[in-house]
Order: sequence, then structure tokens, then C-alpha cells
Amino acid sequence: MMFPYNFYLNPLFLRNRVDSVSHFRISDQGMLPETAYQFIHNEMTLDGKPNLNLASFITTWMEPSADRLYAELYNKNLIDKCEYPQTTAIEDRCVRMLAGLWHSPHPLKTIGVSTTGSSEACMLGGLALKRRWQKTRKKQGKPIDRPNIVFSSAVQIVWKKFANYWEVEPRYVNISPDRPCMDPEGVLAAVDENTIGVVSTFGVTYTGLYEPVEKIAKALDELHSRTGLDIPIHVDAASGGFIAPFLQPDLVWDFRLPRVKSINVSGHKYGLVYPGIGWIIWRKAEDLPEDLIFHVSYLGGNIPTFALSFSRPSAQVLLQYYNFLRLGKAGYYGVQKTSQSVARFLSRMIQTIGPFEVLTDGSDIPVLTWRLKEGYTSNWNLYNLSRQLLTFGWQVPAYPLPPNMESVTIMRVVVRNEFSMNMAQLFLNNLKQAFLFLDSLDSPIPHDTNCDISFHH
Ligand SMILES: *Cc1c(COP(=O)(O)O)cnc(C)c1O
Repeated sequence: MMFPYNFYLNPLFLRNRVDSVSHFRISDQGMLPETAYQFIHNEMTLDGKPNLNLASFITTWMEPSADRLYAELYNKNLIDKCEYPQTTAIEDRCVRMLAGLWHSPHPLKTIGVSTTGSSEACMLGGLALKRRWQKTRKKQGKPIDRPNIVFSSAVQIVWKKFANYWEVEPRYVNISPDRPCMDPEGVLAAVDENTIGVVSTFGVTYTGLYEPVEKIAKALDELHSRTGLDIPIHVDAASGGFIAPFLQPDLVWDFRLPRVKSINVSGHKYGLVYPGIGWIIWRKAEDLPEDLIFHVSYLGGNIPTFALSFSRPSAQVLLQYYNFLRLGKAGYYGVQKTSQSVARFLSRMIQTIGPFEVLTDGSDIPVLTWRLKEGYTSNWNLYNLSRQLLTFGWQVPAYPLPPNMESVTIMRVVVRNEFSMNMAQLFLNNLKQAFLFLDSLDSPIPHDTNCDISFHH
């Protein structure tokens, strides 16, 4: 051989041949670190680009100082509270700050925890409601075998999971074209003595709208004084919890309403932290039944915990604190206001550039939705448009509204910190190109449907 294979040269791209690496079986021999790195790095380029992912509420960008902090902190376990007392102290400070932001009567004394996201926070909130209801019913000598929970048909999926996993009957208040949000009348029609609580969504995932928490609370107050039925509210403020305090400070939805007993938020949505952090705060310490708290001794101390997970990364908690220090209220206001301006700009433009009708314009949380004008074309639908936008790299979901309105397909853009006015203008250009292209096809094209992931070999 003219050039015998040089063992030491070992070029990277001669190393990982597809036929030598199984996708489904741990390899016998392993590979060099750079090979494994490149292997995965290359595969990741097939994913979408996070900054063009307009489907997601989740933070895709933090500033370099935050990245630096993240890289320093990734190896600490949040549950090692005695070993990392300052991490524990900082988590507690964040709880106090959020309790204050949402007007808890006793921010320094109330209870709250960080979680992996709003999903875990909602499970904890629902669980506290269930336990509290059980205790009251037992005291009254009444049966506890048929708990129910009331929320909108546009509720986030986690609440359906909660009802299923913890065996509570879900009762839906249907939304309709003239009642796009769960309203007090719908709530009153659904509740009874077996209702553990009402969940009000503050920033509906489908539309970005705030449910009228104050009106719902008033209606339940009246029900209370009329019948003695005292039904608490949990506010799922996964996205709104970090928007309203800054953009709509006069809107009353939080612990200013005594009936609101707990609130959750996603730190990794408008809290502006990378994925992996949520929060739940109770109005007062008494609102969390004491017997749900576990005291753990084997970490070297007596540590009260209330969470579904034990070990967890602590970096996101510290990044949340970073944002509180770094941005302050003025910074949060600035970031959210900018996102809202971009959302409002997009919703004005989208109506003028194309055959679209804007349904929600980002006035509540910076999320806008639109539909195709009724009767515009039967040649293509919003799923086709979504697919077409993907050719530019933009990920914009199309989906049906919840039951009762599922015949309406909408498109949604979530405006985040990273999505600047400049990018919004470029997006509009591409949106225009995409629908003009679809319009130029003179025969109907096969209707795409939503992304369907199934795992197979
Ligand atoms: C995102 C969201 C959730 C789930 O939160 P994660 O942080 O993704 O776990 C629950 N409720 C609402 C209203 C949401 O927007």
C-alpha cells in the first residue's frame, strides 16, 4: 500500500461509521471523546434552531454572564441542602421574592418551592387542594371518595394528567367563540361540595389570554356566603406570573384575592431562565397541609421537603436569582414590554400582509394567534403554511382549538426575549413568501397535519 493507514493520525471522520455504532444497544467498546462529541454534535444539527422556534415558551437565550454561571454550577444537587447551604438560602430568597411580587400577605413567612417546571408545581398545587378538601370533609364526617376539580377546556395538559394520576374527576368549563375564556358562570355551574378547587389559567396556552381570576373569585365568594361552600382557587400562571406584575400591575389576579391559595409559574418561560425550573408559592404557610411535608434526616440534618423529585440540578434556581439581581423589576419590565411590542407589531402586520384574521394580539401575554380568513381557500391550510415556513427554518405550530371549537385551526407565535423586531420583520417577509407560494399552486395540495412523533426503529 502506498499510504499505509497511520494509527496515530486517526482522522475523525474515519472513525464513526454508521454500521459500527448501534442506535439501540450500548456499544461494547466505546469511542474516543471527540468522536462521541462530533457524533452527537452532527446529529443535533438536524434539530430545529431554538431561536427560530416560535412554538416554544421556553427560554432559549441567556446572556453570557448567566452562561458562565451555569457552567460553574452544573454539578450541584439541589437536594443536598446541608452540603450547599447557600444554594438553599438562595432558593428561599427566590421564594420570598416571588411571594412578594404576587402580594402574599406574609412573603417572609409563607411557603413555596422550586420545581422542575410548572408541571411539577401544578401537581403539588393540585395535591395540596385535594388534601385540604379531604381534611375538611373528614372533619365534617362527609365522604371523600368523589373529588372533582374544575378548569377550562383550554387548560394545559398537565391538569388532565393531574386529574388522571391523582384520581380526581376533571370538570371542564367549555370555551366557545363568544366565551373564549373560562368565566364565572361556567365555574358556578360546574362546582359542588366535592370540588377540591378551581384552577384558573393566567395565560392560556392556546391563545395567550388571561382568565378573569378576579371575577371568578368574586363569584366563588358569593357562593361561599350564600351556601357555605368555600372553594379555593389555584392560579396556573405558568406564563402570566412573570408578565402581569410588570406589564399589567393593576390587574388583580394574585394573592390580593384571599381566595387564591396557591400560584405556580415557569421560571423557564417568562422568568427568562433555561429549561428546568418552575415555582409554586402558597398564599400563607397554613394553605399547604403540613402532612404533605417530609422531613429528611439522611442528608445530615432535618430538612423539610415537598416536591415530587429528590435529586435535581440547582443551576436553574441560581440562574433565577441571577435574573432577579441582574434585571430587577425595571429589567423585567423592559424585556417583557419589548416582547409585547414585537407581538403587537406582528399582529398588526399579519392582518395586512395576508389572508389572516388575528384572534389574540399579545395584549395579555406576548403571544399572538391567527386563523385563515373564513372561506379564503380550500387549496391549502395552516398546517401547509407551517410546513412551508419550516423551509426557512421557522417553527410555527398550527393546531385546533380545544373541544367545542376544534373545527377552528389557528397558528400561534410566542414572542420571547430573543425574538427581536428585526427578526420579526424577517419573519414577516418569509410568511408572505410562504403563503404566496401556496397561493401560486393552482391545485389543492395534500393537507399536512400536525407533527406526529412516534418512536420506532
Ligand atoms: C407551560 C405551561 C404548563 C406546563 O409548564 P412546564 O413549565 O412546561 O412544565 C402548565 N400550565 C400552563 C398554563 C402552561 O403555559
